[in-house]
Amino acid sequence: MERTLITGGAGFLGSHLCDFFIAQGHEIICMDNLIKRENIESIAHLMGHERFKFIKYDVTEYLHVNGKLDNILHFASLASPKDYLDFPIQTLKVGSLGTHKALGLAKEKKARFLLASTSEVYGDPAVHPQPESYPGNVDPIALRGVYDEAKRFAEAITMAYHRNHGIPTRIARIFNTYGPRMRLDDGRALPNFMVQALKGEEITVYGNGTQTRSFCYVDDLIQGIKKLLDSDENEPVNLGNPEEITVLDFAKEIIDLTGSRSRIIFCPLPQNDPKVRQPDITKAKTILKWEPKVSRREGLRKTLQYFEKKLSET
Ligand code: UDP
Repeated sequence: MERTLITGGAGFLGSHLCDFFIAQGHEIICMDNLIKRENIESIAHLMGHERFKFIKYDVTEYLHVNGKLDNILHFASLASPKDYLDFPIQTLKVGSLGTHKALGLAKEKKARFLLASTSEVYGDPAVHPQPESYPGNVDPIALRGVYDEAKRFAEAITMAYHRNHGIPTRIARIFNTYGPRMRLDDGRALPNFMVQALKGEEITVYGNGTQTRSFCYVDDLIQGIKKLLDSDENEPVNLGNPEEITVLDFAKEIIDLTGSRSRIIFCPLPQNDPKVRQPDITKAKTILKWEPKVSRREGLRKTLQYFEKKLSET
């Protein structure tokens, strides 16, 4: 039986990974400091499962796990612009110190290591769409720099552990992903728009809404993570849905989908908000034989069910 540590395991992606690898027959150690989740609701259904163990812990501290480990999936991080602006130092620490600790554990246990990196390593990209070979355009001292640079450092130290210690490492550059279990208040475009639409509140489009993003449904992303883990690719691989949309059109899609009467208002654009973002997934298609299958319409419909349920509970 494979034994897998998932850091950030109670988070949005982490909790889906817990479910996925439990279903694959792994024994899961889920580690999370619950910095933004006051409770363990996202993994509550797994508590008591014989192959699941939750440890409340901050991975920036010295990390020790008893017994063997086959895989470490390092997903601990603040992940929404609002959160990493609220917790800039924790964001820097988890990407740098946390990744160092997790890699140290991988070395100790001779485990495979997968880093959750991000499209933010490309910053405000001057190349569009973004292939893995593009080194990015990041301002280290801008507000978003705390996340971008922490993840860039995380990639650098991951490659160094691979090259110097021979650790089998993988780097997933994850583009915007959405689905059930996103926090309603995480401040990202999708939760904001959906909650606003469902409550009949004004939809807050930042800037003029011409900036673009490309949204991937969580189930597709998890399949990509699994395929990357099982591959022998050590250099970064983009994982995301290449279907690009402007933020304004995305807001309109959510209004249509919810049948909301909310109107759109335009608010100031946050500093350093990337103007475009779209993954070039040629590498993932070629090496992993992976590409997203869930259309935005279908993914948004599934996500809406979750948001409706959560809002009815509050
Ligand atoms: N955005 C917006 N209204 C909101 C929240 C976000 O217009 O209420 C915009 C944001 O400025 C960005 C895009 O939507 O251009 C995606 O933002 P998100 O926070 O989801 O993640 P990002 O892709 O910027 O990391």
